[in-house]
Amino acid sequence: MKPRLISIIIPSYNEENNIELIYKALDRECTDINYDYEVIFINDGSTDDTLFHIKKLVLTTSKVKYISFTRNFGKEVAILAGLQHVKGEAVIVMDADLQHPCDLVKEFIKGYEEGYHQVIAKRNRKGDRPLRSFLSSLYYRLVNKVVDVDLKDGVGDFRLLSRQAVDALLMLNEGNRFSKGLFSWIGLDQKIIHYDNVLRQNGKTKWSLPKLLNYGIDGIISFNNRPLRMCFYTGGLILFLSLVYIFVHLILIMNNGITEHGYFTTISAVLLLGGVQLLGLGVIGEYIGRIYYETKKRPHYLIQETNIKNNGESYAGNQPRIYKIHRSGDY
Ligand code: UDP
Ligand code: MG
Repeated sequence: MKPRLISIIIPSYNEENNIELIYKALDRECTDINYDYEVIFINDGSTDDTLFHIKKLVLTTSKVKYISFTRNFGKEVAILAGLQHVKGEAVIVMDADLQHPCDLVKEFIKGYEEGYHQVIAKRNRKGDRPLRSFLSSLYYRLVNKVVDVDLKDGVGDFRLLSRQAVDALLMLNEGNRFSKGLFSWIGLDQKIIHYDNVLRQNGKTKWSLPKLLNYGIDGIISFNNRPLRMCFYTGGLILFLSLVYIFVHLILIMNNGITEHGYFTTISAVLLLGGVQLLGLGVIGEYIGRIYYETKKRPHYLIQETNIKNNGESYAGNQPRIYKIHRSGDY
């Protein structure tokens, strides 16, 4: 009988010092599980020697596969590429930077064997900068009031997905992929495992403040049209108040004649309305921008080289296949 296979996907961007470490740690952890396993590194356009270190591993073991992008496409897309190429009956997604403890693999598998389709690791915020923890928890409280899916603080991509969950994710074909929302959107039985936050040892985080801000906006925009609705209501409210204001003033003018008062109120009305209109336009622009990108139907990513064949098998040795272009749905 063919052994049962677990696939582990690791998106990697400038992680040259972590590749070997994470593989060794995983290998140690996986020696006594009842499954065969494969590790798929997605080299997301690294500018350091990440690819070199991955290929070094490929020479020593057939358990390692890789996909190397033509440039940096972002972690979300790297995860998508991994999901499209793995064969395992269950799939684990984890970071390369050792912030995701490998010893959770066994707990993931335990949850999977109990019948859960998503086993999700949830970290606490031990060791995080207080300001960042505070802002994050505030964000999640706010965002959960607005979006249609349930987003949890401390829950990220680190999780195990059953084959059924992976197939469900692959049906969601959008280009702008906010994984946290997608994972939550597909539903299925979920189990949460708690773990202590681990700080990054090597390399540095790829999250700058503007990137985090954009990610936050993605979270709000990707999963509902409530911001558009809010513009509509705010606009309606302001229109109503303006009409009342104009009506009251018309009556006052009819009774008292025109005086020169009113400069301040005029200016405030103009500024207020201008502001609200710009805000509304901004929100609409966000959605139109997304429609624009989705209609282009560009591939999500381009592969420069990989050792995975179309049927999920790997090529012998270190012989890469050059240039494969995929869009989700091809599989
Ligand atoms: N990553 C990636 N592409 C990117 C940015 C990050 O594949 O454009 C990978 C990165 O190599 C790491 C994981 O995503 O394995 C998480 O990144 P990071 O540690 O910077 O995020 P943090 O842990 O700070 O949230
Ligand atoms: Mg990290």
